[in-house]
Amino acid sequence: MPRTAITLALGALLGSLGCGGSASPSPVPAISSVSATPSVSATPSVSAAPSEDPEPTPTRADAPPVDPEARAQALAHELIILDGHIDVPWRLHKAQAAGKPVDDVTGPTQGGDFDLPRARAGGLDAPFMSIYVSADFEGKGAKQVADGLIDLVEGIVARAPDDFALARSPADVRRNFADGKVSLPMGMENGAPIEGDLANVAYFHGRGIRYITLAHSKDNHIADSSYDSRHTHGGLSAFGEQVVAEMNRVGIMIDVSHLSDEAADDVLRLSAVPVIASHSSCRHFTPGWERNMSDEMIQRLAAKGGVIQVNFGSEFLVGDIRERGKAHAKERDAHVRGLGLALDSEEGRAAALAYEQEHPVPRATVETVADHIEHVIELVGVDHVGLGSDFDGVGDSLPQGLRDVSQYPNLLRVLLERGHDRDALEKIAGGNVLRVWQAALDHAAAAARSSG
Ligand SMILES: [Zn+2]
Repeated sequence: MPRTAITLALGALLGSLGCGGSASPSPVPAISSVSATPSVSATPSVSAAPSEDPEPTPTRADAPPVDPEARAQALAHELIILDGHIDVPWRLHKAQAAGKPVDDVTGPTQGGDFDLPRARAGGLDAPFMSIYVSADFEGKGAKQVADGLIDLVEGIVARAPDDFALARSPADVRRNFADGKVSLPMGMENGAPIEGDLANVAYFHGRGIRYITLAHSKDNHIADSSYDSRHTHGGLSAFGEQVVAEMNRVGIMIDVSHLSDEAADDVLRLSAVPVIASHSSCRHFTPGWERNMSDEMIQRLAAKGGVIQVNFGSEFLVGDIRERGKAHAKERDAHVRGLGLALDSEEGRAAALAYEQEHPVPRATVETVADHIEHVIELVGVDHVGLGSDFDGVGDSLPQGLRDVSQYPNLLRVLLERGHDRDALEKIAGGNVLRVWQAALDHAAAAARSSG
């Protein structure tokens, strides 16, 4: 989600390069572009059996050999791909609030990282729509903002009911998948809309919210944030502890992304069910940055049955990317001045753009994302890792090869090339989070039964 304080300082000129639409220049070819039929119905033929299966499905003698790229394309449409965090609602809300034309993501869009054709191309089946409410709204109408964003998601489904559907459970996701529809489950980023009233937890459950990130960029009335140095509560507030119990009771997953270590510790101690980190990566690669999860925290999350969903933003993936970005901008500006051009002139901007084409902005790559996934696997096994891209939330910092929702097959290809089999890919792509989600629902159902 927009983290103004953390945004990569890559220079104003970079804005003109766009936000990673598939049309933007990319040194890494998007293998999704070869897919002529971006449809869930485009399931692979029997001949696409993986060579790494213990008992490969027999292939016809004349079947062409399967390369990882084709295999990844097939799997992307065969498996359920669930992404824990996509900021489409905020993207639409921002445009709406600014009086600008609002992208219709039920068709192709120029900007942004998500729309229906690209979701189809990438095999994306269940992107959690982030109901993101800025910390600025704490105590100032946060609930109303959340309601407005939920309305926007419902509006997408209403405009394209043959392609999109809401999803309130893993069973909904699986049924929508079988029906060839993209599910739009919802998670709320920031507990501010709870507004100090426990009844609002059940209220938002009723509106379809299936996880809540307890805090965002600042400490709030529920929990401390990793971005806030005040440590207001030393973890969860007393009210926050009640919120965790109430979320367990009604069946909303608890999301520890954005929380301070102390707050995440409290959640892991108190929650009756496994929890998620909807869009966090491994602190191992970004030492000292509390927004990502430490190895010890990942181990505790996994011991409880939970899942970390790896964030694709370059600053989540590579520790010194911000410094490299600044150095890159400096070199670019020096180059433009060396040509005798002013940075703010039309010629200067053109020269800067040309320089960027020759010397790409430092970014993580799809391989870096795979490194994070493999780090979690080495630490705690394959049952505790998933995807939480932050598409439409981290702007231009997306990795080469994962620039928008059409490019999940690139990640599957890298994982296949590194020896991970179909079962592992199924878990990483979505199966693990569906398991945690189901556990939250089962616990709530049992609680409802025992309370009569
Ligand atoms: Zn976020």
